[in-house]
Amino acid sequence: MKIIMLGAPGAGKGTQAKKIAAKYNIPHISTGDIFRANIKNGTELGNKAKTYMDQGLLVPDELVVDLVVDRVRQEDCVNGYVLDGFPRTIPQAEALDKALAAIGEKIDHAIDVNVPDENIVHRMSGRRACVGCGATYHLEYAPTKEEGICDACGKELILRDDDKPETVKKRLGVYHEQTQPLIDYYTNAGILKTVDGTIDINDVFQAIVDILGE
Ligand code: ADP
Ligand code: ADP
Ligand code: ZN
Repeated sequence: MKIIMLGAPGAGKGTQAKKIAAKYNIPHISTGDIFRANIKNGTELGNKAKTYMDQGLLVPDELVVDLVVDRVRQEDCVNGYVLDGFPRTIPQAEALDKALAAIGEKIDHAIDVNVPDENIVHRMSGRRACVGCGATYHLEYAPTKEEGICDACGKELILRDDDKPETVKKRLGVYHEQTQPLIDYYTNAGILKTVDGTIDINDVFQAIVDILGE
């Protein structure tokens, strides 16, 4: 099962992608996580990506396409995968389709987690990320057992720099301009499914399971 998660920044793509990966036993591939790991390790890719990410802009297509195409060709992807944060532009979607077609494969489902802009800024200001393992929480909606401490690994939680309100507004603009056209792209491909992302996390997941099957 090959799945793409679509939706605005903060819509809950990562939250749902992790649950999908666990239930269907497929890898969760987050380009944002890959970039943040590269930044942490001080790689050349990380240094390049950081200048764009800090400004709330997309990293150029040429820095992300090959990375994802190589990743989905790895052995753990034979039974499928859930892509979170990729594709984010029409050229990325076209490059992915082309690379998959070359090996006789295709994406099965594109799931749009739909959350209006009004909810996003509030949601993002409450998002907290673990500095150790990258797990994501929310002060109100997905709190940790002990405030400020990761349930999974015990490390400290932070507000991502790009989740501050000014940058979130910029990212939302970038989303509408460059990523939202993918809704039409996957509608035309006949594989778009939309779920309401404003309801409780577990209810969003149930709606997704209804689409993907038990
Ligand atoms: P969110 O989950 O909040 O939408 P991500 O963690 O997916 O954010 O992405 C953080 C940043 O990483 C983006 O704002 C962008 O700069 C960069 N990024 C991640 N994926 C891509 C991609 N497919 N194309 C271009 N830039 C990307
Ligand atoms: P994305 O990957 O789309 O940027 P995340 O999965 O990181 O989004 O979710 C953004 C924030 O909103 C996180 O703090 C997360 O805990 C919280 N969140 C995710 N889904 C919901 C939901 N259905 N209701 C309320 N908060 C949510
Ligand atoms: Zn952690």
